[in-house]
Amino acid sequence: MLRTHTCGELSLEHVNQEVVLCGWVQRVRDKGGMIWLDLRDRYGITQLLFEEGKTQANVLEIARSLGREFVISAKGQVIERLSKNDKIATGDIEIRISELNILNPAKLPPFLIEDETDGGDDIRMKYRYLDLRRNNVRKNLQLRHQVARHTRAYLDDLDFIEVETPVLIKSTPEGARDFVVPSRMNPGEFYALPQSPQTFKQLLMVAGFDRYYQIVKCFRDEDLRADRQPEFTQIDCEMSFVTQEDVLNTFEGLIRNLFAKVKGLDLPEVPRMTYADAMRLYGSDKPDIRFDMQFVELKGAAQDLTSGKGFSVFDDAELVVGICAPDSAVYTRKQLDELTEWLKRPQIGAKGLIYVRYNTDGSLKSSVDKFYAEEDIKKWAEAFNAKPGDLILIISGASDKARKQLNELRLEMGTRLGLRNPDEYRALWVLDFPLLEYGEAENRWFAMHHPFTSPKPEDIALLDKNLGEVRANAYDMVINGVEVGGGSVRIFEKELQKQMFGILGFTEEEAQEQFGFLMNAFEFGAPPHAGIAFGFDRLCSIFGGADSIRDFIAFPKNNSGRDVMIDSPSVISDAQLKELAIKVE
Ligand code: ASP
Repeated sequence: MLRTHTCGELSLEHVNQEVVLCGWVQRVRDKGGMIWLDLRDRYGITQLLFEEGKTQANVLEIARSLGREFVISAKGQVIERLSKNDKIATGDIEIRISELNILNPAKLPPFLIEDETDGGDDIRMKYRYLDLRRNNVRKNLQLRHQVARHTRAYLDDLDFIEVETPVLIKSTPEGARDFVVPSRMNPGEFYALPQSPQTFKQLLMVAGFDRYYQIVKCFRDEDLRADRQPEFTQIDCEMSFVTQEDVLNTFEGLIRNLFAKVKGLDLPEVPRMTYADAMRLYGSDKPDIRFDMQFVELKGAAQDLTSGKGFSVFDDAELVVGICAPDSAVYTRKQLDELTEWLKRPQIGAKGLIYVRYNTDGSLKSSVDKFYAEEDIKKWAEAFNAKPGDLILIISGASDKARKQLNELRLEMGTRLGLRNPDEYRALWVLDFPLLEYGEAENRWFAMHHPFTSPKPEDIALLDKNLGEVRANAYDMVINGVEVGGGSVRIFEKELQKQMFGILGFTEEEAQEQFGFLMNAFEFGAPPHAGIAFGFDRLCSIFGGADSIRDFIAFPKNNSGRDVMIDSPSVISDAQLKELAIKVE
């Protein structure tokens, strides 16, 4: 060993001991007679001391030649510090250095290796190995390690087995776009990288493995939206002989256990909500339930409190729906105009916003007073359960659109009102997703989760009648409005799986060609099974209290899917292309 201790472990109990430390020079303060040097490694920072008259001249000379990020080893005696630093763990001591070696000099780094750096995103990504030396970035990866470790421990205790599944698999048209890999040995043919190990984990159930998990890389060639990575990690799980209830309980336990172990937090009870309720009450399948502000429909399935008063916008609308923002009647006309403009931006696309101020003196003032009498507006306020001081915000139009827009407004108001506390964690199960959704552009049905998801047994009869009404035994876990995981009870009978492919527009030959291996396996004793996968990077970012998953990945891609450090993707040589039978001259 080149060192006796790390830079994070020495304290008063080591005083007088001779130690050798290794690390990177964080900074040097040369005060003439005295030189102090902060030496850094993964474990912390220790102060080294050089003193004119007490330190040998040649050692002083080396100390004066050091630059930031030089790698050094230093031998010396631990002494008590005169002025202690309670901000760092080793702040009670320093090391009086007697021997100093430069293990490797360093060029001046292109940005400050400090918590608050002067380096922009691009430069830090280009020199990610330097970025990773920074405390906060390193801490994120240590947290990631903890999440993985406790996940494995929890699942291991429940008899789950981690099994690796292949990375070179077969391209299928369902789901997102595949990344493909040409096969030199099979000219003109391609592997695909897995979007998830879905079919393999199901085959492991057929194989009798009973409880499987894998912390696994998945690949999706999707258009890059903010904070999407083309390769990401899942905690992928599958169980045999279980009901949906068993899966929910097992994995609620996992998340609860992770909160306790990683964050020292007792996660509040995880409520359950159907997809239909989530859409009706929040306009979203991943509602943030840290705050209320549930939707109230003034004109909808249950009632109509708006029609027939000459206000054509509401008369013509399929849905009139709003939220009640607590204590916001103080909003000025200017603020409301600004909110309306915010809603009209193309990203949201609302046509307008109607408001009712419930003033603290009990009077009601709306932007549609011209059309509605005070009693009408009073009925609205009652429907919202509004109290004096509240502000009611109303959107109308086609149901799906209006709900989507109001969801954005609800989240925005929640943020503005400080109701989305980043230190509060509220998890939620969303259940009973529709099995299928109709793609207008493609003019066909798509699986909402994936084609292996089982319809609810009581809805199977609807497969012949009303596909849009069929619900699935599919579930998502949502934390603070972010989907962190999802899964389903699977189809395990060949005939039902075949029917499902038919509904999705596969001919029998296509289904056989692409998924024959699975349907054949179902004929050899497939147990009933169900599973789930969690977005591991996303979970880490939630535990780390950050929005971006990139900060929790050691070497992430940028927003264009590029690794700017190794400069990938890149062109390959003609010779390589030829060998892969991609470009034959
Ligand atoms: N394979 C699914 C996914 O990646 C999760 C699951 O159904 O287990 O979303």
